[in-house]
Amino acid sequence: MKASQLFFPTLREVPKEAELTSHQLLVRGGFVRGVAAGVYSYLPLGWRVHEKIAQIVREEANAFGGQELHMPVLVPKELLDETGRSGVPVLFALKDRNQRDFFLGFTHEEVVTDIVRSSVNSWKHMPLYLYQIQTKERDEPRPRGGLIRGREFTMFDGYSFDSNEADLDRIYRANYRAYENVFRRCGLEYLAVEADPGAIGGSENHEFMVLTDSGEDTVLRCDSCDYAANAERAEVPASSSGPCVGELLGSYTVSTPGAHTIDEVCALMNVGPGSLIKTIICLAGGKPMAALVRGDRELNLPKFARLVQAKQVDLADAATVVRVTGAPVGFAGPVGLAEAVPIYADNELNDGNTYIVGANENDAHAVNVAAGRDYAVTAWGDIRTAVAGDACPRCANGHLTEARGIEVGHIFKLGTKYSSDMNAQFQNEMGQKLPIIMGCYGLGVSRTMAAAVEAHNDANGIAWPISIAPFEVAIIVAASKDETQQSAGAELYRALKAAGVDALFDDREDRTGVKFKDMELIGVPIQVIVGKGLAEGLVELGLRGQARESVPVGDAARAVTDLVAGERAKLARLEQPWT
Ligand SMILES: [Zn+2]
Repeated sequence: MKASQLFFPTLREVPKEAELTSHQLLVRGGFVRGVAAGVYSYLPLGWRVHEKIAQIVREEANAFGGQELHMPVLVPKELLDETGRSGVPVLFALKDRNQRDFFLGFTHEEVVTDIVRSSVNSWKHMPLYLYQIQTKERDEPRPRGGLIRGREFTMFDGYSFDSNEADLDRIYRANYRAYENVFRRCGLEYLAVEADPGAIGGSENHEFMVLTDSGEDTVLRCDSCDYAANAERAEVPASSSGPCVGELLGSYTVSTPGAHTIDEVCALMNVGPGSLIKTIICLAGGKPMAALVRGDRELNLPKFARLVQAKQVDLADAATVVRVTGAPVGFAGPVGLAEAVPIYADNELNDGNTYIVGANENDAHAVNVAAGRDYAVTAWGDIRTAVAGDACPRCANGHLTEARGIEVGHIFKLGTKYSSDMNAQFQNEMGQKLPIIMGCYGLGVSRTMAAAVEAHNDANGIAWPISIAPFEVAIIVAASKDETQQSAGAELYRALKAAGVDALFDDREDRTGVKFKDMELIGVPIQVIVGKGLAEGLVELGLRGQARESVPVGDAARAVTDLVAGERAKLARLEQPWT
């Protein structure tokens, strides 16, 4: 491609609505343009990157038997009614001219299951793995961050159909490995973490995170084994210390006027937050209950919901708190609640120590309060959010460390949730009718593009890994009016094209400085400068942002091809996926 013919409107100014680096650089580099909040056009450069990522994903899915199909964006409401998902808040809903209800597809479990149930009815038809790379629409409440969280985005979504758990497990592992290869090949440092299945349901699932300091997700990983989990999900091992056998001091109440928060109580009593217990009144299915965590910890609602076997647990409203505790908000404690509710406590508090708790009366706290003696615990459990420094739940000596990441993929073992709801059945070898066992596998193509920019950029622009760069090599002619330079550049460009190198020939009649700045901004990984040195038969060659070396113009094509091959090889697939 010649830069003189390429449409890439670069900007010198940072777009004012863009907060994230990736958003700023993709707009400034002429990769994307905003159309509406969370909706973008891909300009030619952006689409080149997008398609390179999509092709890597496609190759990895095909490598283990995936078959590509393409489903519609428009989805009839009846299909989502079958699984009860027509009420999902992020759905874009519309009516056709006959007042029939439709949605814009936000994920395609129902559509693909509908296809499969009408034609797959025997164990002999499986395993089956179908996928698409397609536009998804979600009416996010706060679209932000450019391509990181848009309302319209491109996703790879794969769906597996199996007759037994072993096959599901095999295809799940194959996907896991394919995702690893995708991110390796895209030049991204990633981490697969255990995650909360959330609304989609199912059993085992993993999120794939691109690790970068600007990531909005916190992940915790062990410093000694390979345990890694989303911070929301990470388990905390039960403390080994049992109930205290020593003598405990008796409890008493102190006046704490105006001290509603942990910080206020700490300041007033001159203690650390670890000496306090937070008593949190929650509602599970309308039923009030109390959750206790140490003062410096956060209650983890999904964990708490699992402990109490509720679908969902919410924090109680102020009126409920006042009714249950008999005190204003801020003075709740496990002793002397106005209403007898079950009390669940985090494992960490089962250490035999006494704690400071709210006294369930205005402006008062109780000191030296001991579980078992002063109040009864309905059940102990892991209900707090893990933090860096916690012991590893999997190995004996490890501790968790924190990293920031951007979620770019999520794979789930769905089991039979969707096939049962939609009556997608098959006959097994014994002639029994059973629901098909499913898995689903999502990978954000557009988000991976933005994550790559977040992970690879500098003050001058984007530093794309060569596998997903819009071009592999930029040939910059320094003096555009110099015929000799132009023709040497053109010749090198032809030679590189013939050698299968994706090159951009910057033949524009612009100042050299402008051309350098543009190539740095759009992040072409290898640069060749055809400039003054040509008088001595030399051109300059180097990686973006690094020192350049002079090579004889006659050797330039081979030297560039070798450099490209070396850079490509660094991002090659490291292991063959399962076949
Ligand atoms: Zn560990």
